[in-house]
Formats: sequence, C-alpha cells, structure tokens
Amino acid sequence: MPELPEVETVMRGLKPVLEGRAIAGVALRREGLRFPFPEGFAKRLEGRRVTGLWRRAKCILAGLDSGDVLLVHLGMTGRFTVFSAAGRRNLGEFYFEATAGEAGEGPHDHVVLTLDDRTRVVYTDPRRFGIMDLFPESQAADHKLLRGIGPEPLGNAFDAGYLAARLSGKAAPLKAALLDQRVVAGLGNIYVCEALFRAGLSPRRKAKTLVKKRGDDPRLAALVGHIRAVLAEAIAAGGSTLQDFAHTDGAEGQFQQRFQVYDREGQPCLSCGADIRRLVQAGRSTFYCRNCQT
Ligand code: ZN
Repeated sequence: MPELPEVETVMRGLKPVLEGRAIAGVALRREGLRFPFPEGFAKRLEGRRVTGLWRRAKCILAGLDSGDVLLVHLGMTGRFTVFSAAGRRNLGEFYFEATAGEAGEGPHDHVVLTLDDRTRVVYTDPRRFGIMDLFPESQAADHKLLRGIGPEPLGNAFDAGYLAARLSGKAAPLKAALLDQRVVAGLGNIYVCEALFRAGLSPRRKAKTLVKKRGDDPRLAALVGHIRAVLAEAIAAGGSTLQDFAHTDGAEGQFQQRFQVYDREGQPCLSCGADIRRLVQAGRSTFYCRNCQT
C-alpha cells in the first residue's frame, strides 16, 4: 500500500503536468472505485482549470478554479500514468511508444483525464480500493479521509513535545501508536519499522514508556528525527516499489533496496548480525532486531 513517500512521489509527478492546465475531457470506465464516484463527477471536472496540487496524509488533492477540490487516495494498487499528446510515455530522456493498453485502454484503466494540451492522465487500479471524491474546498478539513488526521511528520507541528503529549498514558505498543493516523499522518508499516530500527526502539514497548514525568525524553526527539530522515530519504529515492507502485512515468521507486529491517526476516541485522525477526502486530508484519531495539 502506498505510504507517504509513494503518494508524495506521485503528487510531484502530477504537479507539473496538471497545475495551470484545464481538464478538457473525463472518461469514466465504471461507476466508481471503492465508493461510487460523486454525483456529476465528470461534468464538474470538465472545463475546470487545476489551480494547485498538494498532498495531505496519503491523499492527493487538486484545487480547481470552480472552488472544488478533487481528492484521490490510491488505495492498494492505484497509479497514475501520464501520456503526452503523441501517446508517448515520458521516461526521463527516453521515449517509448505506448501500446494501446498503456494509453488508457487497459482493463484496469478506470479514469482518463484529457488536458487542454492533449496530455492524458490515466488512473489504473487493479484492485479498485482507490477513492476519488470532489467537494467544495471549504469542506476539505471535514472530509472523512482528512478529519482528525494528525500533523504531517515532515512539518513543524510534529516534534518531541507533540509526540510526548500524544503517547502519554498510551499502553498500546509503540508501533501501533505510530501507525495511528490521528497521531501522525501518512506513516505506514514500512517506514515505521525502518524508523524504529534506526531509533533503537522496540516496536513492542508500550508507547507511554517514552514519556517522562518532567521534560521530554531525548529518545522521543531522536525518534522524530529518524522518522523525518527515513521519509525524506524515501521521497528522494522515489518511494518503495514492492509490487504495484510506480511513478507517473512508469518508473519504480528505489528505496526498497535500502530497507534495513522491512521484509528482511532471517537475514542478518546490519548493525549486530543477529537474525531480523518478524512478528505480527494487529494483523501486520513487524520486522525488527531483538538486540538493537529495546
Ligand atoms: Zn541488531
């Protein structure tokens, strides 16, 4: 499932393509994705100019000159691919002719936006857990996917003091607390595992044990730093591709090559050499080193 770095990578790929452009045509190949498309979806998009593109948590948001906001959540397998007017997919310096399937005619190509410069933006989603919604910008903060979401981990509001306040009294395992989107936005399984390894903190320890009665525990400040660093490195690497994730030009992310614990069960810890362990917490696999993380 795309986490913050993957969604950020997709948003950055779409931003120069969509911003300032008008949506000339919208082809919907089905009634909806995880949920039905909103009423009059295509009509409310057509002819509108995209005024800005940004990310909040794991959602991509596009502001329109009508005052509406288009929200996209990639779900499990959603991806966008951008095709130039000539039907070519831009892969850096190289251009490949798109096949008919690639150009928006594939069985899992559910939404095709044609822009006023004839660029096509194709949304593909084999498992259809993705979400698209359209609503007035004034309602964005109250949207069911954005309401109550915690601060952005790369933003200034996320610091040791904030985290101490949120983890205080929490008996839940530290890993579960960090996966809670109300505590911090956009973190998922991969990057929490990696950040906890770098911080030397066990995913099993109770969240509240990092909160001191007086002042901040220096381990919390270190954890915040590691969360920020792992996300920034992952964004710089274009995210992680495990199965389906791809950039808007079809390229894959590269951060999976730099995982230190995630998906490394039984392989030696890069720090102490002990076997990386896997355990299941709340139905999700956690990867960690029993020696290095306490
Ligand atoms: Zn170790």
